Amino acid sequence: MMLDVDSLTHRYGAETAVDDVSFGIERGELVALLGPSGCGKTTIVQAIAGHVSPAAGRIRLRGEDVTDRPPEARQVGIVFQQPTLYPHMTVGENVAYGLRAQGIEPPRRNELVGEYLSLVSLETQREAYPVELSGGQRRRGELARALAPQPDVLLLDEPLSALDRSLRTRLRDEIARIQRETGVTTLYVTHDQSDAMALADRLLVMNEGQIAGRGRPRTLYESPPTPFVASFLGRSNAVSATVVDREPPTLALGEATITLPETETDVPVGTTVTCHIRPEHLTLRSSEGEDRSVTATVDRVADVGSRYDVTVTLPSGEELVVERRGEPPAAGERVGVEFSAARTVLFAGQKRADRAPRT
Ligand code: ATP
Repeated sequence: MMLDVDSLTHRYGAETAVDDVSFGIERGELVALLGPSGCGKTTIVQAIAGHVSPAAGRIRLRGEDVTDRPPEARQVGIVFQQPTLYPHMTVGENVAYGLRAQGIEPPRRNELVGEYLSLVSLETQREAYPVELSGGQRRRGELARALAPQPDVLLLDEPLSALDRSLRTRLRDEIARIQRETGVTTLYVTHDQSDAMALADRLLVMNEGQIAGRGRPRTLYESPPTPFVASFLGRSNAVSATVVDREPPTLALGEATITLPETETDVPVGTTVTCHIRPEHLTLRSSEGEDRSVTATVDRVADVGSRYDVTVTLPSGEELVVERRGEPPAAGERVGVEFSAARTVLFAGQKRADRAPRT
């Protein structure tokens, strides 16, 4: 294991920011730490880097306990959300800075600066000052500076969030390429689920200081272990239902009954469940179907370019968003909404927040 975070807890005053978090990252892996603002991601990064001394828990790098070591005695590279290149130094000098601190002699330093600037496609900007670079180029410069000392672990803390969407996507692809080429073990911190899904070998989804789900991105997306993961990782509708039969699983949604033969559930008959289903796994029918659809009224239709997001209201008053590729129905129309049997995930208990996914 290249990085091992063991039972990490950290508090700011009375507030617990990170609560008994454990995970490991294998050599060469890219793991994304994903969660909403304030869930404790940056605190974990700071604890790994040595800028925060945790209240409890250990950090190990290459099997060695580094919890009590200062940041400069850990082989960790970091790129932060905000630009941190030294403004009075050229790009080349910025990249050389960490190498000098490691005691690397000038000729080798020079070579490494060239190598890493070329890796991030910034070789022609070696003599430029940060103020002369675009936002994307500054990020590249920071990546080169973090990578040149060949750290055990690269920590990327929301490195793209200050950039516009198209630059973001380009740089995300670049990060994926650079990570593949260098094989550097990487922890990528983000609140953006599409960045995390696109980049990560493995995901750690965080909520309120704890890990709410972990696993391969596709597996977590398709079989979310908790309602939080279901709604945070992509868009998900949550509707309340009652289990009325188990063989096959049959749910009552208000007046309607739907049968979901491929859905797994071990909750007893009579239990209230929250039924999570993604907008792309719902289909609109002109009328109510046999066993997997409920009648609803179209509330509004949003044209988002590649598709329509159709918001419908169930008789219970709950809203569902349905993705539609073809011509959408009009507002006010009565429709049948069909649930994809294999894609409906049930959780015991009432849903927590009464909200449909963003359209
Ligand atoms: P963001 O994406 O907004 O940076 P995050 O997931 O990285 O959020 P943290 O920055 O680790 O979360 O913060 C976790 C919690 O700890 C938050 O409630 C935050 O307000 C609090 N916190 C963070 N840093 C401090 C600090 N220096 N002093 C007091 N409270 C802090």
